[in-house]
Amino acid sequence: MTSYCFPATDQATLPIAGSPDLFPVRRIFCVGRNYEAHAAEMGNTVDRAAPFYFTKSAHALLQSGQDMPYPQGTRDLHHEIELVVAIGKSVGLENPPPEEVEIFGYAVGLDMTRRDLQAAAKDGRKPWDTGKDFENSAIIGPITPAVDTLLDAASIRLDVNGETRQSAPLTDMVHSVPEIIAHLSTLYRLRSGDLIMTGTPAGVGAVVAGDTLIGSIDGLEGVRTKVV
Ligand code: MN
Repeated sequence: MTSYCFPATDQATLPIAGSPDLFPVRRIFCVGRNYEAHAAEMGNTVDRAAPFYFTKSAHALLQSGQDMPYPQGTRDLHHEIELVVAIGKSVGLENPPPEEVEIFGYAVGLDMTRRDLQAAAKDGRKPWDTGKDFENSAIIGPITPAVDTLLDAASIRLDVNGETRQSAPLTDMVHSVPEIIAHLSTLYRLRSGDLIMTGTPAGVGAVVAGDTLIGSIDGLEGVRTKVV
């Protein structure tokens, strides 16, 4: 029996719609600039040749329905509503080909961003970590088990205090879910429990304490939080 010098961190988990089981979260990959209109609003263009990524720690996870304390270190907290892909069973190979990576299900997530810190990092040609990977910055709803074609005609939407801020068809994604999995598999061994946040449509903006955020994608359980 292993003993630790202090209690080990609890396993981060997400609920699964229609199941008593929990989904144990391993890594959180995030795709940047995957909607043309969002790239444009940030003064960027999309790279159609390949997606790019940043990551969040599993302990950045906040379950839907919980309040998000306004984070330290920022005066410009932004919302980004995103489709989240949950990777299922590992196939047992050293480096599984992308077609053997099983999608367990999908969820709706908020990539909360300290935009002022991210902007300063961009200006200084520094990494984005402090702008993106911080406590409670990955707010994700329950995982809905994958159903073929479920998302083909779906739209993604975020309402803040009842007003729609972001809305787009998922077909606006520059790189599709299969394309992202294929490309990411050239860089990492995707494994059970990995999550991929697939980028946000246009309309990102600031939230303040007291704001209620409700995100949805047709056919999936939604995500909800209140900034406090
Ligand atoms: Mn994002």
